[in-house]
Amino acid sequence: MTNNKMSSSEYNLQSDKRIIYPPIFHNLGVSAFFTDRAVGIDKERVSLLSGIPIERIYMPVQKHTDEVIIPDNSLTSVTGDAVITERDDILIGIQTADCVPILMCDTKNRTVAAVHAGWRGTAKGIVKKTISLYCDLFSSTPGNIVIAFGPSIMSCCYNVGFEVIESIERVSGSGDFLFSKGESWYVDLVGANMAQALSANVRQENIWISALCTSCHDNKFFSYRKSGAGQGRQGAFIRSLP
Ligand SMILES: [Zn+2]
Repeated sequence: MTNNKMSSSEYNLQSDKRIIYPPIFHNLGVSAFFTDRAVGIDKERVSLLSGIPIERIYMPVQKHTDEVIIPDNSLTSVTGDAVITERDDILIGIQTADCVPILMCDTKNRTVAAVHAGWRGTAKGIVKKTISLYCDLFSSTPGNIVIAFGPSIMSCCYNVGFEVIESIERVSGSGDFLFSKGESWYVDLVGANMAQALSANVRQENIWISALCTSCHDNKFFSYRKSGAGQGRQGAFIRSLP
């Protein structure tokens, strides 16, 4: 895990060029990126960044579910918190402000996925479910799946009630991603989702983590906890290149 972690300094906090292109996807035939406050989910800017027309950018209606959407030809946005596609003419994405944005691709068939995992999605096992659908519907194998975790609230800032700990433990198992300090409980949501991916047989060397906390860097990223609702969301987008 350590090898695939980006340090804060790699993401240039001073630069205007703050779109994060996870290096783990380089040379895999996909275009994948995480945005910040500056771009957010502005479809015009995302369209310019990706070269995909606005009408072919697909984002689901997120409701902290474990629904995985496979967009049909109409590209009608429906309720769900993960998207998978084998199409190379659309850009799929999800939006977050503290929750974990996750991008996936299969290195063999270049099927791509975008997943939104807050604590509820994590407790519902949305990563496990996405990987399992990936394998069932697109003939993927976990060994071929590459995953990038974007900026999210990290355990430094994410204290939770014990019921959250219990519900995540039921799906992710126990690990150092769930811990207490004094009277308070903390979750490392990325760690909890990574545990799900590893238990689904994704290889550790195929996982990349941004290691940027949205709450610590709320001047660069939207943070629901730090700044409240209604501020905005950053995006995570991925597309298989033709
Ligand atoms: Zn933090």
